[in-house]
Amino acid sequence: MYRVSVLTCLLIGFGLPNFAVSGESLSDNLAGVKVRLDKYDGPATVHSQRIDRYKVRIDVDPKTESKELAIRIELPNTGPNVWPAADVEVIDSKGRALPVRRNGIEWHNLLLTVPAVQSTYVVHVVEPPNLQPQLPAENERHIADPVSGLSSAIANWHDGQQAAISIRFDDSHETHLSKAIPLLREYGFRGTFMINPGEHDPNSRRRFPFQEHRTEWQACAKRNDQEFANHTMHHRGALNDADMEYQIGAASKIIWDLFPSQSKLLALNLGGGTQWLTTKTLRHYLDKYYLFDASSGSMGMDDVYGNRPSAFRQHLQRHIKNAGWCRIHYHSIGKNCSSSETNFRKVLETIKEHKSQLWIAGMADIYKYQTERKHSKLTIVNSDPHHLSFKLLCLSDAELYNQPLTLEVTLPKSWPPKRVLVKNSQNKAITTRIVQGSNPTLLRFEVDPLEATYNIQLE
Ligand SMILES: [Zn+2]
Repeated sequence: MYRVSVLTCLLIGFGLPNFAVSGESLSDNLAGVKVRLDKYDGPATVHSQRIDRYKVRIDVDPKTESKELAIRIELPNTGPNVWPAADVEVIDSKGRALPVRRNGIEWHNLLLTVPAVQSTYVVHVVEPPNLQPQLPAENERHIADPVSGLSSAIANWHDGQQAAISIRFDDSHETHLSKAIPLLREYGFRGTFMINPGEHDPNSRRRFPFQEHRTEWQACAKRNDQEFANHTMHHRGALNDADMEYQIGAASKIIWDLFPSQSKLLALNLGGGTQWLTTKTLRHYLDKYYLFDASSGSMGMDDVYGNRPSAFRQHLQRHIKNAGWCRIHYHSIGKNCSSSETNFRKVLETIKEHKSQLWIAGMADIYKYQTERKHSKLTIVNSDPHHLSFKLLCLSDAELYNQPLTLEVTLPKSWPPKRVLVKNSQNKAITTRIVQGSNPTLLRFEVDPLEATYNIQLE
């Protein structure tokens, strides 16, 4: 015990830097964390000290200040010092979580309001309660059997496509029903509709087009060719924990009711320009309502950003090259809207042009595939020169993560594809397809993301 506390004191006292800042002065020596008094010019100061990888102590000295103080804390959201912002909370010296204000799409940027008294606060990462299982390594998603000469792999994306693309639409605007959905249907594409399904809200002057067009949205949900996602009830943020719980939870429940037989897992975007005041971590809300944060990494397609069709083409080509997930998002579409119909159509044409390389899907579909794959591995059970039996292990929660995985099997030259049979553990034949032009021959087929054994045999 003694040794540990001496070491801790050394670390706190000398090992890591300690800085006093007031007003606008910043420091990068907190491993990218920036702490300052927000818009402040007065006698009070804050001392910040990094006491662990994800732990920063803030000491407030108000001096002669009597008004409450706003402390701005910016956590690195990229690079080697990145913080897992969804797991961050701020506690006082008694360990109580404090209300923190954040923008809906900048969860790494915190505003803490405190009284003008000498006190200490800690910004830290809360360990998520359901710890991630140890994930299989990338090479475990591939097997090569020397006895049968077969090899198999879990495809990077559905159907072995080179890249994935999601087309998102925010704010349940009327033109999503009148323009976006009919055009997507014309092309046979699936979009993701971030809806605000709340009724009129006395705290907001906004109109709520979802409720005005409820029957049309219901009809769209029934057809089930588009994905719905959670953009919160009213797109106005929240004033406290209970309000945030309602804004997120009630929106999810409305979507679940629209898709009663679907997985409850949904994409969440709290919305740009919204302010959220909560003592809880974002993870609390994500876990409770089976959500994943889909607010970042997307290209805005509003015409005001300029030259969208050609910017998109480059954005897409980059993702095809990197075998990644290309995300774009729209607001209203049509005349006098955020995007013109002409520009929207140009983008759909570009996607169509690259269709043979793309998995065009909903954000939850793509997220599920990505997560399931990360939680999966293949192992050889047994084999002989005419047969291979292998097991798929998948550790993701099967109730939420129900997107089929694509398996690929490479045949040895001596195996004529027409005589190859793939069966599941119930000895039922699985429909496979030969990848055109593949040499050696590559077969593909879909399986449920569950633990199961598959047999490949030469008849
Ligand atoms: Zn929005």
